[in-house]
Formats: sequence, C-alpha cells, structure tokens
Amino acid sequence: MKLTVHTAAAASFLSALLLLPCSALLATIPLLLFLLLCITAPFCPQWSFYLPLISKSVTGNRGVALTFDDGPNSISTPIILTLLQKHKLQACFFVIGEKAAAHPELIAEIIKQGHSIGNHSWRHDNLLMLRSRKQLCLDIHNTQETLGRMGVIPTVFRPPAGITNPRLRYALKREGLIAITYSCRAFDGGNKNITDLAQRILNRLQDGDIILLHDIPLNDDTEQEVWARELDNLLTSLGNRKPVVEPLEKLIGQQVMRKKRKK
Ligand SMILES: [Zn+2]
Repeated sequence: MKLTVHTAAAASFLSALLLLPCSALLATIPLLLFLLLCITAPFCPQWSFYLPLISKSVTGNRGVALTFDDGPNSISTPIILTLLQKHKLQACFFVIGEKAAAHPELIAEIIKQGHSIGNHSWRHDNLLMLRSRKQLCLDIHNTQETLGRMGVIPTVFRPPAGITNPRLRYALKREGLIAITYSCRAFDGGNKNITDLAQRILNRLQDGDIILLHDIPLNDDTEQEVWARELDNLLTSLGNRKPVVEPLEKLIGQQVMRKKRKK
C-alpha cells in the first residue's frame, strides 16, 4: 500500500507537469488526484505517506502486543495494572503528558510492574497536526521532558487520533522518536462503546497485530465494572493464545523507552 500510494502520488504529479504545456484543463485532473492523496494521507497513517510508521509486527514475530492509550488516571489505570498482573501480561501505555504530570505515582507503578511508556502528546489535541511546527515540537518535547523527570525517556510516539502530517517527521527526529500506530482496535470511541469489547478485538485479531485499547475512566461504576469484565475476558483469551502476547519492542524490533536517573 505504501509503495502504491507513493507511486500514485508521484505519477499523478508527473502527469500534471507533462500535460500542462498541452492543456491546463487536462493537467488539473492528475493535479487534483495528487492533492487529494496529500489531503487524505494524514488520516491514513498506515500509508506511511509523510513519515515511516509502524502499525504491526515488522520483525516476523507473530505474537501480538497490547497498548493502552490516553492515560494515566487514578480510576482506570489501576484496574488495567491489576488485570495485567493477574494474567501475567505486559503492555505499553501511550500516555498524555499533562496526565502523567498529574500522576507521577501511576507512571512509577506502570514501570515498576514491567510495562513500558510511549509518548501520546501533551494534551491529546486532535487538531495537533494542524498546529505550527513550533507548537507540534513543543507539545512532544514537553511530554518527553515531563516523563524524563520521572526517569522515563520514550522512544516511540503515537499521534493523537492517528493523524500525521509532514511536520511530524521533523518533530519526532528531534526527540529521537519513531511513530507507532496499531493494526487491531475495537472502535470503542475511547471507552464509550464497550459492549462486547473483548469479542470485537478477538474477532479481528491477527498474528503480529498491535492492539489498541484505552486507559480512560467510564461514566459510572456500572460501566466501569462491565469494562473491567470485558478486559478481564480479553486478557484471559490472549493469555491462552498462541502466538503469545509479546512486549511491543519484540514486534517493532527496537526499544520502546529508555530509563534514566530521576531529576
Ligand atoms: Zn489517544
């Protein structure tokens, strides 16, 4: 897909250039196709159009990896940690910088339990990719700085809402980050639609998938219980699965974070 989209973009741009001397009207057709690809690409990170992006195993490891986005918080993070401990599974938490700043104790607990941390931007601004390069860099840097003070230097970044842009490549390079998305999700709307969550993941799951789940509290205690039960069921099935659940680093072939001495 990556090669096809890049080839289509190059071919349409070249065609527009070649047609321009003959007919400006005809040249607009491939030009419009080129522009359409450029506009659509930020919403299709799997194309890796603007920057290299990993969404599933690239190492040949056929295991699956668990990732939890948008935390930490004092309600759902402890539930996830308890369940991961119960099922002896490892996960990567793509955290929001300002939430991490408010809950350093949860970041410490995630690390203590052997999980890893990725950068998921400072405040999950869904329009982040429309901001200036300076703002984008600052957002990502602030999160790295905050986590760094807690002894964690992520080497992976997951863009909010999975949207990318050409400026992201520069911002990530500055921080030594690579972009990671996912290949299996339940379309849970950020824990708003949790009915049959486990089954929806299991129905879609393929070897080598990076699974997206959310670390977001639910509306009330009843929903919280349903969600915890769904997660428990999912982890039970994943715990019995072959190939097994692997740490994210095994699927992407590089480290997810470095540890450093706290300031
Ligand atoms: Zn998110």
